[in-house]
Amino acid sequence: EMLPVETGVTVQLSLLIGSVTFSGSMIAWAKLQEVMTGKPITYPMQSVLNALLFLTVLGLGGWQVFSAGAPMGAFYGALAIAMLLGVLLVIPIGGADMPVVIALLNSYSGIAAAMTGFVIDNHVLIIAGALVGSSGIILTRIMCKAMNRSLANVLFGAFGGGDTSAALGAGQQSATGLVARSVTIEDAAVQLAYAQSVIIVPGYGLAVAQAQHVVRELAELIGKNGGQVKYAIHPVAGRMPGHMNVLLAEANVPYDQLLDMDEINDQFEQADVALVIGANDVVNPAARTDTASPIYGMPILNVDHAKSIIVMKRSMNPGFAGIDNALFYHPRNAMLFGDAKSSLTKLVSEIKEFMAQ
Ligand code: NDP
Repeated sequence: EMLPVETGVTVQLSLLIGSVTFSGSMIAWAKLQEVMTGKPITYPMQSVLNALLFLTVLGLGGWQVFSAGAPMGAFYGALAIAMLLGVLLVIPIGGADMPVVIALLNSYSGIAAAMTGFVIDNHVLIIAGALVGSSGIILTRIMCKAMNRSLANVLFGAFGGGDTSAALGAGQQSATGLVARSVTIEDAAVQLAYAQSVIIVPGYGLAVAQAQHVVRELAELIGKNGGQVKYAIHPVAGRMPGHMNVLLAEANVPYDQLLDMDEINDQFEQADVALVIGANDVVNPAARTDTASPIYGMPILNVDHAKSIIVMKRSMNPGFAGIDNALFYHPRNAMLFGDAKSSLTKLVSEIKEFMAQ
């Protein structure tokens, strides 16, 4: 026999949304775990194929809702295609956009739960589902806004596919022939030991290196030497909103030293040293000036306004957006190459020695 139409439609929609969420989440997990490539996977007619699959699921669903004669195969077919759709919708999205995708899929799962709540007439499920659905959407919006990108750009823009193997990695010279200066641990240590005010800019690389504890140690040393240390937190530094806050809180960095971008951006001009640790895109001045840049319009930290700049990273390789960073070639900047944790550890022991003299 047939279900009432409202129930049938709801069942089909929760089947579609639930399946897309499930298989899409699996791909998001695989990308984050680096079980598969984090780069966007694209091919011609991608959106057309996805649209066709989507319409097929709707067609199979409609068949089941409106015709008593629809075979069980229509149900299983819709299920299989919806699962495939989840995979195909997530593979063209770059690895670092996974937080947005996860928040969005989370929101979908809430919607699917709420729909199921309507079918089985369960109010708790409807309310809980609606809350999950709306909070996921809010988080998605916050992330997109902080990156100054539309949701459509995140989902269909294949962002982060920039050719990271570009010649940049090899030398310290930009495409336009600019050369990045590098600094030794010893010189950087002296500079930091004498600094009156230091702004530390943490990014994704700090998290990768797990250098949060040693950065606090460095900050304490600078403090002992009479310098003032603040941390500048960009809303999308790292791979999740709040990533840097959580990371630094774990290392017991005093919370009042953490300043949001809007609070600290005017203070860079007075800073003796801006110490950028494993951050890249969030300090790229191209976002201000270069209309052709994929990150154009993203608000950035005004690191280039500081009296001197030290950028700590392992190489000249680009960050998530896959683009060169003019900050590296800035006349007041020096690169301190190496893993953030090992460089910071060396800096700490160097400054200790220096202070002991
Ligand atoms: P980026 O991804 O721009 O750069 C991180 C840098 O860290 C790399 O250039 C890398 O350089 C360096 N790095 C990696 N490992 C180490 C290590 N062990 N030691 C030292 N350095 C290291 O990071 P940002 O935080 O500046 O920017 C975040 C990016 O992620 C932005 O593009 C943002 O839009 C995007 N994003 C953020 C989201 C969020 O919610 N936070 C959500 C979605 C996207 P090298 O390889 O040379 O060491």
